[in-house]
Amino acid sequence: MSVRVVARIRPLLEKEHDKDVVVHADRVGDGKPLTVVKIPNPKNETEEFSFAFNSVYDQVTTQEDLFTAEVAPHVKALFQGLDVTIFAYGVTGTGKTHTMRGGLRLAERGVIPRLLSSVFRRAKKLMKDTNGSTTVAVALSYYEIYNDKVYDLLEPPEKRTAAGLPLREKDGRTMVVGLSERSCDDLKDFERLYIEANNNRVTAATKLNAHSSRSHAILRVKVTQSTEDAVKESTASAIDLAGSEDNRRTDNGKERLIESAAINKSLFVLSQCIDAISRGDKRIPYRESKMTRILSLGQNNGITIMILNLAPIRSYHLDTLSSLNVSSRAKRIEVREIENEIVYKQAPRTNSGPGGASVQRQPLR
Ligand code: ADP
Ligand code: MG
Repeated sequence: MSVRVVARIRPLLEKEHDKDVVVHADRVGDGKPLTVVKIPNPKNETEEFSFAFNSVYDQVTTQEDLFTAEVAPHVKALFQGLDVTIFAYGVTGTGKTHTMRGGLRLAERGVIPRLLSSVFRRAKKLMKDTNGSTTVAVALSYYEIYNDKVYDLLEPPEKRTAAGLPLREKDGRTMVVGLSERSCDDLKDFERLYIEANNNRVTAATKLNAHSSRSHAILRVKVTQSTEDAVKESTASAIDLAGSEDNRRTDNGKERLIESAAINKSLFVLSQCIDAISRGDKRIPYRESKMTRILSLGQNNGITIMILNLAPIRSYHLDTLSSLNVSSRAKRIEVREIENEIVYKQAPRTNSGPGGASVQRQPLR
């Protein structure tokens, strides 16, 4: 399994045009790609912290740029039988949903519709190139994890039970029992399902007097390739995570505290899993939360991409710093080339080598 951690800094929104920008993308030398995020030390603003990533995308990055660079290259791997997992991580309001779902206009479409479009295109081509001797079926599941309970988003909220759907182990994998799956033949099919499911998510959250940013939404795309004598199955999972902000600072209500505890726990376990995978550890602590368990993070042989979404303005400063800390722990990349800079690093040196932008791999299974 390999893991990539990238950061995306969103542009200022219209209402933020007069706000103070504190987050900047940078590079380690002239002509190098953007791989560094810089942010002042809130306790002493003459000091700047630097965080390194596999890649950094700045305000001018388009939806297409991001997809082409980070997701499109893995569609081939998906068809080769590898599982692909894409997370959007970050504080509420930083662009996770924009990155994953995006807007309705073609240019504003996010990773998910672009992924589906790319999968359908490849499937069609494969069937054509093999004169129909290979068939490809695409099926969707879509669910959310709220307060550590699993709810099907392809079913109307009325059908939910308080306990949510149970998990069960099967062939070393964790299954969500009773999760529905819908076959999907083209992009139109997908869009209809996806819009309906996202409405279910909002309705369910409203009923609980909560907000959809307090749950993790997981879209699972199963690709089944069949020939006369073989069947190959792989999945792409796209996850819009719950906001990583520290709600204790702003809202002390009991409900919100329960939510925060569940969110913090699962996001913490997620970062530990990604950390362990990128170190090449044998033991990945994926069993410690439902989200990481369901994704079998660390078990599947596949590719994981974590996109850290960042808002550049001062009002997010402390939360931005804390999510930079979590994700840079998740991917210990050296930034030694930067001279005269303060490198903010809690983690010990790992074997990622100088520059360390390499993706570390662990033998499959
Ligand atoms: P989150 O899901 O992390 O809470 P959203 O995706 O809802 O954040 O983004 C917050 C706001 O910022 C939305 O109005 C969204 O349209 C806008 N936004 C986020 N990222 C971008 C971007 N890259 N370009 C333009 N607008 C963006
Ligand atoms: Mg969102």
